[in-house]
Amino acid sequence: MQIFNKLFYADVIEDEIIQLERMYQQVQLTPKQLQKLKHTLLKKHTPAPPSILKKHGISIVELLLGVRCPNCGQYHLIRIARKWYCDKCLTYSKVAHQEGIRDYLLIISETITNKECREFLKIECPNLAKRILTRMNLPTTGANKNRLYHRPQNF
Ligand SMILES: [Zn+2]
Repeated sequence: MQIFNKLFYADVIEDEIIQLERMYQQVQLTPKQLQKLKHTLLKKHTPAPPSILKKHGISIVELLLGVRCPNCGQYHLIRIARKWYCDKCLTYSKVAHQEGIRDYLLIISETITNKECREFLKIECPNLAKRILTRMNLPTTGANKNRLYHRPQNF
């Protein structure tokens, strides 16, 4: 169907853009038109509804859990010297967990607790989960064990 030439999944968007840039090399829009297009796209953007998993009958156990390597994509990063380390591609990252937390807040629920964060990212230490959640500067409600970290508007 022709629609599949126009639609693609978010995880391949970078490759698609690179391919489009190769296909269309001539500049068509002025900087002002580009700016206008950018504003329109941002204005029309609709955040994904949080009930996507339920809608498609996917349970959380079917998702890949853990912190994902930003370099090679595997899900079993380990914590070494306050950084995430991938033993597959030997890469360190300080912020690899942020993608997982964003995914959780966009796909699974509008809120996340310390416990849910540990389960989703396979983190054992509550203090580490607290630290990484706090550093994401998310709006919070509640205190201590009942603290909820919320998906901000315009996330
Ligand atoms: Zn890796």
